[in-house]
Parts: sequence; C-alpha cells; structure tokens
Amino acid sequence: MLVTLAEIFKDAKKGNYAVGAFNTPTFEAVRAVIAAAEEMNCPVILDHAEGHEWFTKIEDIGPVMLEYAKKAKVPVCCHLDHGVSPSMLWRAVRVGFPSVMYDCSVMPYEENIANVKEFVALAHKMGMTVEAELGKMPNKEAGTVDADGSVVEYKPEDLYTDPSEAARFCEETKCDALAISFGTVHGFYRTKPKLDTNVVAEVQKVIPENVGLVMHGGSGVSPEGFKSAINNGIRKINYYTYMATAPSKHIAEHIKNADDLVGFQIISNLGIKYMQENAMEAMKVFMNK
Ligand SMILES: [Zn+2]
Repeated sequence: MLVTLAEIFKDAKKGNYAVGAFNTPTFEAVRAVIAAAEEMNCPVILDHAEGHEWFTKIEDIGPVMLEYAKKAKVPVCCHLDHGVSPSMLWRAVRVGFPSVMYDCSVMPYEENIANVKEFVALAHKMGMTVEAELGKMPNKEAGTVDADGSVVEYKPEDLYTDPSEAARFCEETKCDALAISFGTVHGFYRTKPKLDTNVVAEVQKVIPENVGLVMHGGSGVSPEGFKSAINNGIRKINYYTYMATAPSKHIAEHIKNADDLVGFQIISNLGIKYMQENAMEAMKVFMNK
C-alpha cells in the first residue's frame, strides 16, 4: 500500500529500526526492491532522484513505482530524492508522489529554512511529506566537497550537522524528515567513512518527536555502523550504489559462459535477482533485529 513518510516513521520509531530508501530508476530495480520488501516483510521507500532524470524521467518511471507501491503487501512510500529545482518538485506532485525531498543544503542556512518552510506549507495541505537536508555531504572523493563545482578540502567534522541549527530548522520549516551529515559519503567510498553517531543522538534529542532523521550515503558503512546510527535515531537510510552494481559481475559471467547470444530478458532477470538479493541484505541490517 502507498503511504507517506509520516506513517513509515511512526512504526520505525516504535520498533527502533530504519527503513531503506532505494533508488529505482529502472523497471528491474522497482521489481527487485518490492520483491525484497515483501520477502522481508518490511516497509520500504522507492526513491526517484532528480539526478537520474538524464536517463529516466519521473513521468515514465513514477507511474510504475506508484503502481507497484499500491499493490504491494507492505507499506511503500514513493519519494523524490534530492529534488533541487522547484519545477522538479511540482513534477513529482503531478505524477502523484506522496513525498518529496527538497534539498537546499548548498544554500545558506536562512535561505534553506525559507525555501523549505514555504514548500512544506503547500505540501502539507496536499497531504504530502517533505524531507530537507542540513549540513553538507561530500560527493565521491573523500577529502573534497563539490560546492558549485569547486573542490574544497575538508575535515569530516567540519561538515557535521549542528544540533542547535537542526532544532530551529525543524521548528521553523515543519519538515517531516531531516537528512543530516555525520560522516557519510555519496557513491563509492575511497577512504573509510568516519561516522560520528553522537551527532545523530544530539540532533535526535532536540528535534520534534515526529521528525525522522535520514542517513544519506551508506556506501562503505559496516553493519555495526548502520546499527549504531539506527540506535541513535536514524529512521531512513538511502541506499543505492551497491545494489545497482551488484548484478554486473554475474551478468558478465553469464554472457561469457553462454554458448549463444544472450537475450536481454535473461539479463533483465539476472538484474532483478541480484539487486533483490542485495536489497534484502541491506534490509536485514536496517530492520535492526
Ligand atoms: Zn543523498
């Protein structure tokens, strides 16, 4: 069944677990993640990232995500991931997504608040939930951060979310979910991520009860790292890179060992099988049992 983040967080808080948010830019990924969630009997979030628009438009994959969410045996939220432009947010609304992320984290603090606050007021009237982000997260290469295309040296602790800023941010914007920075990296990690889950605990203490904390960039994080983040208050974990690349070596091997040309339906099915397997491994950790 299709739900918002509010419903997802209510149960996750009660059960002290986190819900995986998986990017599903292909039909195969949608089927893999839904099958994984049903098999694990856990709620799940299907994400569409603005950054994936170059190869799948939300108008194409969104209705597929929504259809699979509605007929799933478990609660499923369809959510826009890293919505940056207002036009992208409105496209997600028109497609019928019950939830969006409005990422103004590269803007100055006050501007981030003003933008998110304005959109949350509209979204709540439509019964939708909104995720925002506070603090910066480096892309790809540890030691650098992509701010306006320039490369800046940083120490992980320079980028951590400030708890007092988070408290005022949630109070003013009324956001439903908040992505915070405590040492994770988007994409594949180059050096071991240095997590500080005390940051999570400190933020959790000062924000409203209904707000769910979000961890982006789980790449390279150990199961113990995830569990510590969850035990300190993380309720949504974005997960994509490892799942998306999980089928590659199996498909390459299958093609290499085949006697004849391999039909794409075989490749597609292998993609589903190994993405599902990988998503289930992640869900097992996120369920925190
Ligand atoms: Zn992210």
